[in-house]
Amino acid sequence: MMDMDQLVALCRRRGFLFQSSEIYGGLNGFWDYGPLGVELKRNIREAWWRDMVSAHNELVVPAGAPSAYEMVGLDCTIIMHPQVWKCSGHYDLFHDFLVDCRESKRRYRHDQVQGRWVEAKGRRIFVATEAGGDEGLTDAEHKALKFFDLRAKHADELHWDGPLVSLTTVTDLSKVLGPDAKALGTLTEPREFNLMFETYSGALRDENSKVFLRPETAQGIFVNFKNVLDSTRVRIPFGIAQVGKSFRNEITPRNFTFRSREFEQMEIEFFCHPSTSRAWYQYWRDRRYRWYVELGLAGERLRLRDHEAAELSHYSCGTADIEYAFPFLPPGEFGELEGIAHRGDFDLRSHMEGKLVRQGDGLVVELDAEGKPKYRGSGKDLTYFDDQTKERYVPHVIEPSAGADRAALAFLCEAYREDTAPDEHGVPTARVFMKFHPRLAPVKAAVFPLVKKDGMPEIAREIYAALKPHVNVFYDEKGAVGRRYRRQDEIGTPFCITVDGQTLSDGTVTIRDRDTLKQWRVHKTDCLAELRERIANS
Ligand code: ATP
Repeated sequence: MMDMDQLVALCRRRGFLFQSSEIYGGLNGFWDYGPLGVELKRNIREAWWRDMVSAHNELVVPAGAPSAYEMVGLDCTIIMHPQVWKCSGHYDLFHDFLVDCRESKRRYRHDQVQGRWVEAKGRRIFVATEAGGDEGLTDAEHKALKFFDLRAKHADELHWDGPLVSLTTVTDLSKVLGPDAKALGTLTEPREFNLMFETYSGALRDENSKVFLRPETAQGIFVNFKNVLDSTRVRIPFGIAQVGKSFRNEITPRNFTFRSREFEQMEIEFFCHPSTSRAWYQYWRDRRYRWYVELGLAGERLRLRDHEAAELSHYSCGTADIEYAFPFLPPGEFGELEGIAHRGDFDLRSHMEGKLVRQGDGLVVELDAEGKPKYRGSGKDLTYFDDQTKERYVPHVIEPSAGADRAALAFLCEAYREDTAPDEHGVPTARVFMKFHPRLAPVKAAVFPLVKKDGMPEIAREIYAALKPHVNVFYDEKGAVGRRYRRQDEIGTPFCITVDGQTLSDGTVTIRDRDTLKQWRVHKTDCLAELRERIANS
């Protein structure tokens, strides 16, 4: 498997990803996409929008779907009325637990710290670490030796009790040796930390002008449900899609772009009749998984995992995650790319009635000390009237919620390849190439004259000019052609078109395939058709 450091270096060197505000030392949890990264991410967003929304044919029943359905889009603001977040539950509940270390002054997410119980010299302590897997075990041993003042050759004096477990399993924090501490018991009790970024709207800075940067795009869809119904002719079942920035003040951003504080989501809220919602949940779970497979995450590093009952949020009757075994995670661990949740009628009811809480098997409006709704809903009617069956009901919602940055990171990790291929003299040489699906590749084709003379550049420029309005192509006439191929391989360009001596006599050019290195000839006027066909059939 690839080394993550090499991918990070390639991303920086070739302009996929930079740290935000790098010249000022960077800002933790924020990333910029460079000239190639922006193309990759746009291609991911566009593939998603096209496959889910604009190319969806509402007249036919897709494979595995309970019926035909419609899809429309929205683009909502990042800052919304604060009541949206009070009724959705984010204001009260969207938090992580953090612990502070009094000694190192560092802050940790409670559930991200792990550790192991160990006994030595008559004392039993919990050695905490931020690392997982083998790295976590090594780190814990190293820290325990230091704490008990033992040399490595006396490691057998450490009596370990059980594997690495979460810090959340430990009740007595006085026995914990914090991840960056030398003394015991320096971690504070866990406390809640709301992940929503706050700011103020307008000239006054008081409680009444406080607003939030959205932590998800979903709520913009729910609060526009009625607008969409009233302004279009969509009928249930239908979905509303939105792509846009979301913000979460993550306690410990980490793992490249995986956990960022500003990121982009691609979300669908799919509205259906309660009686068919299970079948729709199944459809979306499978459809979304297939989307990643079709775009190249086909290996064993991709999986679809159904949540256990205990993991489900209080309103959800089913959730599955699409996960990828990112190379920065310990072996056997997976990171979430997308969650598909059956959310019942929770969201629309929350925005009608007010913030809901579970009571027995049902959901009721949460009341304050005086018995009034804690957070009032909009009071607007968000039910749906089916004019054929004459039934009025609150639709159920299936939510496939994906992250564009995590998808980009997974496609980058999956694409990274090393092999050996003959150089321009036919000598086998190490090669790094990015095996992007052609739909996602930032540059679809490069156009080269074999040499910078005999009229070859003129023909190559003509081909380039003819392709450029239709596909993202790159022109290069500098240096040996072998080296030009390598530079394109490294950024994942699937095809290279070369004008050579034969072009001058019969008008054909060679097209070289990045993955197989096979070359074939087509007429110079057929390049666009050839590229379109190859990209469509990949
Ligand atoms: P996690 O448990 O990893 O924090 P989550 O379950 O809170 O994720 P959701 O609320 O389901 O995530 O958000 C939907 C999607 O948004 C995720 O699957 C992921 O792709 C993306 N996402 C969420 N948080 C982040 C983040 N901090 N950085 C990048 N992408 C994110």
